[in-house]
Amino acid sequence: MNEDFFVEQLKSLGGLWIHGGGAAPHALLTSGRHSNGYVNMTKVIENPMAAGDFCRALINALTLKGKPDVVAGSAMGAITIAYQVAAVYGGRTRAVYTEKVGSEMVLKRFDIAAGEKVLVVEDTMTTGGTTVKTIQALKAAGCDVLPVCGVLVNRSGKSELDIPGEAEKYKIVEVIKLDIESWDADKCPLCSAGSKALRPKENWKILNSEL
Ligand SMILES: [Zn+2]
Repeated sequence: MNEDFFVEQLKSLGGLWIHGGGAAPHALLTSGRHSNGYVNMTKVIENPMAAGDFCRALINALTLKGKPDVVAGSAMGAITIAYQVAAVYGGRTRAVYTEKVGSEMVLKRFDIAAGEKVLVVEDTMTTGGTTVKTIQALKAAGCDVLPVCGVLVNRSGKSELDIPGEAEKYKIVEVIKLDIESWDADKCPLCSAGSKALRPKENWKILNSEL
């Protein structure tokens, strides 16, 4: 199963829409920005069979030597993904998550011993900001974080992450790489070309019609 398979899988689950060009409508995001694509990873997370396929593909792409002791994601989306990845690794591999307390990301309810290898995973990476905070939270808790992050859908355009104050870079390994752009509403080239901006969830049929 290759990247194209998973792109089609995501589309068929209703988790991905890409603008087909021309004056067809485009996406109005929750942030108010306009975009030529829309990703909704909840469609994978809510489906154990599909999530399992994605997580097995991620583990194959990661090619780690041996199993990590712990797989970590950030609440909420990546909790399920970390759990599923740990389940596929099997054995004694555990799944944990970091969570927001106020404006801080912390590792709150899990014990990880010094020297245990921690793999960070994400459902989707947009800017990489959440993953950086997750790694920092784990490091602040004394964890030994592997210098690689596993991401189901990478739309950051990056192949590695910089952690402020650290010399080491973290390699990003993904199942799907997507090139999706977004713009401020008043600078949207698709509006300029006569295309209409629509909220994806409410207008899913219109966005996906062949007309
Ligand atoms: Zn627009």
